Amino acid sequence: MPTVKAAVLTAFQQPLEIREYPAIQEVGAGEALVRVEMAGICGTDVHLWLGQLAIPLPVIMGHETAGRIERLGAGIEKDWRGNPLSLGDRVTWASSIVCGECYYCRLKRQPTRCVSRKAYGISYCADQAPHLRGGYAERILLRAGTAIFRIPDDLPSESVVGAGCALVTGIHGFERAPVEWGDIVVVQGTGPVGLAAIALARHAGAARVIAIGGPPHRLELARNFGADATIDVAAIPSAADRRRAVLDETGPFGADYAVECVGHPDAVTEGIDLCRDGARYLVLGQYADAGNISFNPHAITRKQLQLIGSWGFEPRHVDRAITLLAGTHLKDLFASEVTHKFALADANKALDTVRRWQSGKAVLVPDAGGAGVANHGA
Ligand SMILES: [Zn+2]
Ligand SMILES: [Zn+2]
Repeated sequence: MPTVKAAVLTAFQQPLEIREYPAIQEVGAGEALVRVEMAGICGTDVHLWLGQLAIPLPVIMGHETAGRIERLGAGIEKDWRGNPLSLGDRVTWASSIVCGECYYCRLKRQPTRCVSRKAYGISYCADQAPHLRGGYAERILLRAGTAIFRIPDDLPSESVVGAGCALVTGIHGFERAPVEWGDIVVVQGTGPVGLAAIALARHAGAARVIAIGGPPHRLELARNFGADATIDVAAIPSAADRRRAVLDETGPFGADYAVECVGHPDAVTEGIDLCRDGARYLVLGQYADAGNISFNPHAITRKQLQLIGSWGFEPRHVDRAITLLAGTHLKDLFASEVTHKFALADANKALDTVRRWQSGKAVLVPDAGGAGVANHGA
């Protein structure tokens, strides 16, 4: 029996195991079997590995993926945008599927909060057939109803996976809390979400973007992505000192708009302090439950703040991300974010690189030795 290799999270905070699953020979109606070319290691994967989100184990992680269509089920002739889809096409897809029928999907138009939303690389137990529901594998089987997007030929997979879920998450967040033309924007965090926020703030017409983060190689990326000034959290470890450094850049009143892309609860109190009165504050980075903080809500009322949260993204945000990447210099910028490539067997090294903040973006190339799409046109 032919098999497919996958790097599997079997226990929290333990090394991923390489396991083999039966290769998928037949696909059902609406399904697509994809040969994984590149799978991003997202910061969320580190939180999953740490056990900070409730997920079924074992799980094949990987929710930022590009690959080539190897088999197409009956009824899929087009991608989500209506482009023709055929065997061998390079694709990416929205990492979650919503029900379209629940209170949030249908009545409140907040499908990212669908009560039965399921995400590849997160919500599927790898013990259950067909097993292959995450990107850290040689193949992934996409369910019927997945929003698949054909990647334009001149858009490298490095751009798509480099942008990953950070760019689409940022596009959704900025849609919920728009940057206004001429805003002075402070971005907290220079990980992938922070870099995406810097790029998007620039595109939305920010007059000035100040990024707070580190280490130095990430601050350099932040400047490449459009930050006018960067503040190194290691060089200025005290929040009060950082506030002074930020006000030196924004002027004495603070930011018109701040966006939290750190994931540490303390960043939120610091962010509120960096906002001018009447500012918008987008909290985008608190994906895992990292616990409580002590905090005085008086500031929200007194400063007349708009505090906005945003979770995940919808397929239409993927469409916009691809359009933005394909049509602008962001194509090269996000591709340059991919600094580390690993074989599937080195998935633990890849995860560790992300956990230690050593990479711009680390990716797995699961089928590095593959000989192209064997059954193209078959
Ligand atoms: Zn992610
Ligand atoms: Zn729903």
